[in-house]
Amino acid sequence: MSRRNELDAIIVGAGAAGGALALALARDGFDVAVVETREPKPWHVEDEIDLRVVALAPDARELLADLGVWPTIAARTGPYRHMRVWDALAPGELHFDAADRGEATLGWIVENKLIQHGLWQALQAFSDSAPTLPEPRTRSRGSRLADDAAGRVRLYCPAEIVELDNGADAVTATLADGTRLRAKLLVAAEGAESAVRKQLGIGFDGRDYGQRAVVAHVRTERPHEGTAWQRFQPGGPLAFLPLGDGRCSVVWSLPDAEASRILALDEAAFRAELGCAFDFRLGAITTTTPRTAFPLRLRLAERFLAGRCLLAGDAAHVVHPLAGQGMNIGLRDVTTLRRVLRDARARGSDLGAAHVLRRYERERRSESTLAARSFDLIERAFGSAFQPLAALRGAGLAVANAVAPLRQALADAAAGRQ
Ligand SMILES: Cc1cc2nc3c(=O)[nH]c(=O)nc-3n(C[C@H](O)[C@H](O)[C@H](O)COP(=O)(O)OP(=O)(O)OC[C@H]3O[C@@H](n4cnc5c(N)ncnc54)[C@H](O)[C@@H]3O)c2cc1C
Repeated sequence: MSRRNELDAIIVGAGAAGGALALALARDGFDVAVVETREPKPWHVEDEIDLRVVALAPDARELLADLGVWPTIAARTGPYRHMRVWDALAPGELHFDAADRGEATLGWIVENKLIQHGLWQALQAFSDSAPTLPEPRTRSRGSRLADDAAGRVRLYCPAEIVELDNGADAVTATLADGTRLRAKLLVAAEGAESAVRKQLGIGFDGRDYGQRAVVAHVRTERPHEGTAWQRFQPGGPLAFLPLGDGRCSVVWSLPDAEASRILALDEAAFRAELGCAFDFRLGAITTTTPRTAFPLRLRLAERFLAGRCLLAGDAAHVVHPLAGQGMNIGLRDVTTLRRVLRDARARGSDLGAAHVLRRYERERRSESTLAARSFDLIERAFGSAFQPLAALRGAGLAVANAVAPLRQALADAAAGRQ
């Protein structure tokens, strides 16, 4: 690739959303620059499984497979075939089975760090400073795409944007070392605290849940049965997610003060309280790792578009983890923007034209708003200890479980197949 003065896109942040977007666009033949403040921590197969894991939906796996990074990620994933959801205060249980959808799995439990590592490695291989590209084993469609991506990525790391000119014809970003990047569009994908979103003056709606998610990996007396378990309690949901090594990743959403108390417990007391909170569905908790916690918030950017700048991933929307959908929604932003930009190129349109970028904003803003508000509603409904509401919840779960089309619709939505 000859070094063009004007890039197609500048992508800020190389988390799951930014990393996947940069790779997707490079593979589609667009010239991109990635600006990232810090290189992702390296991942090694002998490392202990990281505490931060996500449940990836089938459409997210398809995207990562299409980008060629799934083989790296598949090295250590825990697929799950079932999902069981129940309420601490009422009878009734919702059970999803992958077989009902004619599929082998409902999703995969994957370390965030591994996803970011896989994407970063691929971006490095396609960056214009990469000495050589990995030799394709076969001349498949994937390898042709890989050839097309060669040299199409410029990586700036560690780097940060200090000045942004969101002009009528192009966007210009100046980095702290004085480097100036000019592109048809810029995508802010630097997470919940997006600096670009602030620079663009885009506010957000939302609320602080006053909760933290306490996470740890535990071993249980009985096997996890390849099942993602979730028990709703008045303080917040408790999830046990099946890891590939037989343990479960616990995500326990708790009011702030309760989270502090649980974090401070000694190991034996933690195991006992956790087992009790989980209704001993898998017997006693036999071992646990150290714990950590993440604050939980709802954030929806007021706009996803300003001039030639777009928001994607957590920079645009942060949702409660109760449905395990935050990253999946961010990866759906990537798939949509990829399609919109391919179509624009095919029609000979300016990639950063308002009518092009508005298509992305319309589609993604309505879908992520619907998802975020639905999870918020579930959090409010299931977070209440008011007994009539609890009875209604129990009945709702039982009805959803008994009515196959309703159960199927819920499973399709979670899998990204609406
Ligand atoms: C407890 C918990 C459980 C969760 N479980 C699930 C789940 O099961 N399934 C699911 O789909 N989602 C889940 N999520 C949500 C998911 O983790 C996030 O939605 C996802 O990681 C966000 O990815 P991102 O790429 O948008 O942002 P980030 O992961 O925040 O990445 C942002 C990147 O931008 C970089 N950066 C930051 N600032 C700058 C800057 N100024 N300039 C340049 N670069 C910058 C950062 O270094 C980072 O690399 C969960 C979240 C929590 C808290």
